[in-house]
Amino acid sequence: MQTLLKLKFCGGARTVTGSCFLLEVGEKKYLIDCGMFQGGKALRRRNFLDFPFNPAEIECLFLTHAHIDHSGLIPKLVRDGFQGKIYSTRATADLCQIMLPDSGHIQEMEAEWENRKARRAGRSEAPPLYTIADAHASLKYFQGVGYNEIVHLSPELSFRLQNSGHILGSALLELRVTETGVSKKFVFTGDLGRTGQPIICDPDVIEETDFLIMETTYGQRLHEEEGEKESVLAEIINSTLKRGGNIVVPAFTVGRAQELLYILNKLIDRGEIPSLPIYIDSPMAIKTTDLFIRHSECFDLEMRAYLIRGDCPLHFPEVTFTPTVEESRAVNEIRGGVMIISASGMCDAGRVRHHLKHNLWRPESTILFVGYQAEGTLGRRLLDGARQIKLFGEDIAVRASIASIRGFSAHADRDELLKWVGKFKRKPSQIILVHGEDEALESMAALLKEQIQVDVYIPSYLEEISLLPLGQELEPSHELLARLKAQQVWNMWEEKNSYFNAHLFSYLEEEKDLEYLLSIEKRLELIARQLEQEIGAMRTFPLLFGPSPLESGGLPLPGSDEQREKRSGEAG
Ligand SMILES: [Zn+2]
Repeated sequence: MQTLLKLKFCGGARTVTGSCFLLEVGEKKYLIDCGMFQGGKALRRRNFLDFPFNPAEIECLFLTHAHIDHSGLIPKLVRDGFQGKIYSTRATADLCQIMLPDSGHIQEMEAEWENRKARRAGRSEAPPLYTIADAHASLKYFQGVGYNEIVHLSPELSFRLQNSGHILGSALLELRVTETGVSKKFVFTGDLGRTGQPIICDPDVIEETDFLIMETTYGQRLHEEEGEKESVLAEIINSTLKRGGNIVVPAFTVGRAQELLYILNKLIDRGEIPSLPIYIDSPMAIKTTDLFIRHSECFDLEMRAYLIRGDCPLHFPEVTFTPTVEESRAVNEIRGGVMIISASGMCDAGRVRHHLKHNLWRPESTILFVGYQAEGTLGRRLLDGARQIKLFGEDIAVRASIASIRGFSAHADRDELLKWVGKFKRKPSQIILVHGEDEALESMAALLKEQIQVDVYIPSYLEEISLLPLGQELEPSHELLARLKAQQVWNMWEEKNSYFNAHLFSYLEEEKDLEYLLSIEKRLELIARQLEQEIGAMRTFPLLFGPSPLESGGLPLPGSDEQREKRSGEAG
């Protein structure tokens, strides 16, 4: 077989957001997920770059699940020329009908907010990443497919969606590429769920594949036991109620909010917590809870048993849904004794920011995190112990108790990932680790090599690996490695630079003293020198300074000729 196979990592590489993989089979291009980058500024800026491929040339998109870090750039993809089908499960297609327009709304609001600031500062305005209308326009390309159904798109390509046990409708994608009798299989895990999660079924076992592209969000961590997390939750609720405060839970509206309701219902039934008012303050959580009930094909036996008894664990008397802004504001006024479940899960947007503003400064309240907090988000800063934060331009002291229950994760933890891979009857010839932060990736790679004895590779952002021709060993070229290293150094420079710039800017605004500003400048200099050394070590590679996809808007790379000239000029 002579077909050339290439895989490009357009997101979700060495980070937990922006999942997007481009698979090239000869002349044809396919996309797996098209997620939004979330977290720090440098990451979010990637959302505004042109796609590293021409959307009009993509045959079709396979979507593993509805989470925005996997689906959030679909409206932009369609606006920029994509016209193929978007294959997903029916539940995922339905969830996207709610989530993508909501994301369009958030984009419009954010642009409005930024533009207001820009007008005041005399800077030029910028359009939103995409609009509600773009999101609606993208929905007609969805084509729902049932779990386990083998779909033949052409004699060369077929696929099947299996349950990944992560959220309602989430799927593992099995892709088979065949030519002149030789066939190779790819498995993309999307996000892999846990066994024994409430409401939805456990992840399906896959028995064989050639290439496994696996998520690694919790590649180095273990979750609490199922029973343990329930008792921790009960304890947090009881102690907060005793202090007279509220419990604010920033929660992903899809999955997490419903899982919480399911467990709260159980705890109230068992008398482990009192019957307290629970507010679901997120229009999207309300809509998705309704949608959950309609997709019983995704439910596990326990959930089905509840429904057969006519007892819905997602709608019980303590729960109040607050769809309107007025109702939401009224919840802000409640001083104590209630639980407020609101989005977004990482506190970057949404109504939860208002509830934080009203509860963070009060020692009697609790902010309870039940989901992963990516680097650079407000949620992560709170978890890391920030004593003061800014919300709506106002300084807010953090006096509330900050709690976190990891066991609520919809992601398999380290041991669950290893166990799942261990169930393959024929080991994958290559495992490619994605959707994780560096430490998790490295630690999972080491464990897989040791325990499963397979080849493991960790690609970088925008790296393209060649699997050519079909069946040959995966081996990135020497030049490519050099370029990637340069890219990594560049990314590092960008991240640090934007971090310091942001600080410098806010210090200037706050009129901090000159000495402090000079110390910041010194730190920048130091980093520049370190990076320069790294680059010096790589000068032996020929393709070192090829065009960087991040060049637009970036600063000259430290050590570049331009910067050298500037520096020597200054020195002279
Ligand atoms: Zn997910």
